[in-house]
Parts: sequence; C-alpha cells; structure tokens
Amino acid sequence: MNLMRVPALNTNYIWFLYNYKNECIIIDPGEETKVLDVLKKFQFKLRAILLTHNHIDHVNGVAPLIQHFPKTIVYGPVETKNHGSHFLVSEGDDFVLLHKKFKVLNLPGHTSGHIGFYSAPWLFCGDTVFSAGCGKICVGFDQHMYESFLKIKHLPHNTLIFSGHEYTLSNVNFAISVLPQDPFIINYRNKIIRLHNNNQPTVPTTLNLELKVNPFFRCGNSDIKKSLNLPCNFKEEWRVFSELRKKKDLF
Ligand SMILES: [Zn+2]
Repeated sequence: MNLMRVPALNTNYIWFLYNYKNECIIIDPGEETKVLDVLKKFQFKLRAILLTHNHIDHVNGVAPLIQHFPKTIVYGPVETKNHGSHFLVSEGDDFVLLHKKFKVLNLPGHTSGHIGFYSAPWLFCGDTVFSAGCGKICVGFDQHMYESFLKIKHLPHNTLIFSGHEYTLSNVNFAISVLPQDPFIINYRNKIIRLHNNNQPTVPTTLNLELKVNPFFRCGNSDIKKSLNLPCNFKEEWRVFSELRKKKDLF
C-alpha cells in the first residue's frame, strides 16, 4: 500500500492510500476538485472515504464524490451522519479495506465525536495531533483532548502520524516560546524553517519525534509548568495541558 499527500483548501491535507491495482481510500476530503484531479491523473478507483470529524474543511467533498462514484463506502463518527457516512463507527470497531485492517480510536477534544483510524504503523488523527502542536479544543473538552493525547502516546513509537493540516511552523514557534532552551525543539525548528522556505511539507511525523518536540505530549515537564506560572510539583497534567492550549490560543 502506498500513500499520497494532496494539499487542499488553505492548509488541509487529503491523504490517499492506494494499492498496486490503483484502488484507493481517501481521508477527510474537504473539497472534491483536487480529489477528482488526482483520481483522473493516476487512474485511481475510489473505494472508500474515511472521515475523522464533521468540520466542513474535512467533509465538504463527500457528497459530490459520492455523486461521481456511488459505490464508494464512507466511514465516519456519528457526528458525520449528515455528511454522507454509511457506516458510523467508534472505538472498538474495526474493518478491512484493501486488505488492511483499520481500528477506530475515539479521540474527542477538537470536536466531541472526533475519531482516528489506526492501521499499524499509520494513524490518521484528523485535527487531534499536529506536528509540535495540538488541535483547537471545543469548549469544555480540554480533559478529553488530554486523554486523546495519552491514548496516542501509548501507541508504538514508530507510529506515523498523518494530521489534517500543515501547521508545523506556527506550532514550533509556540513550542520554542515555551521551551526556549530545548535542544530537540531548537533543531526541529531549524529543520522546519528550511522545509518551509523550500515549500516542502512537514508531515507525516512520527510519534517518536512528537514525544520530543511536541509540548502537548510533555505536560509533566517542569519548564513548561514554569512558563505557565504553575508550581513544579503541580500534579494535574490535564490542567497543564489545558493552560498550554489556552496560551497557544493567544499566541
Ligand atoms: Zn477540524
């Protein structure tokens, strides 16, 4: 199975998975034009669409694509019921597409019903984890988002994380404002600036890397607590996470 990244709208990525027969699965089509271009160019046969959540920039392409290819099967969380999902899935569900097994993980936080699709070593996590950052949180769901991060943290460290947007430069600038002396973040920021200046993508990322450069995976870190004016012995990590996200909102 192969993977392709297709930039769409302003900052979105639509991920394509395809096999040697040119059968393909796409994740979060926020628009149809780019998808139709790629399908035509590579003569892909669209078999399925996976949706992580119900935001318009992730689902807007579904209806027109289904009109073009009525046999396409759509999997998504309950919140995508009115956006074309045929199979409403949640944690504990799994299914096989193109001979690959996909497990569904509940990853609430960005929206209340957000899910991810895991097929080792790949995780399609929509707007949950971004490289060096974290998706915006819907009101009151800070602790849920923290728990979604914990769930991802316990996946194998070689997991490849496919996010829904290219936000790394802004995230890494925030990360360095919180941990200015951190050698991993300093190096990573230099690398991201180089990639950005050459119009190169910065995702997918790996869990192994994110555990080092993503402050939202490091809420036990005393320097992060210090930057949030919290005492070093502050124990409730989800509150550190929540304060960190609030600080990013104002960044
Ligand atoms: Zn979203």
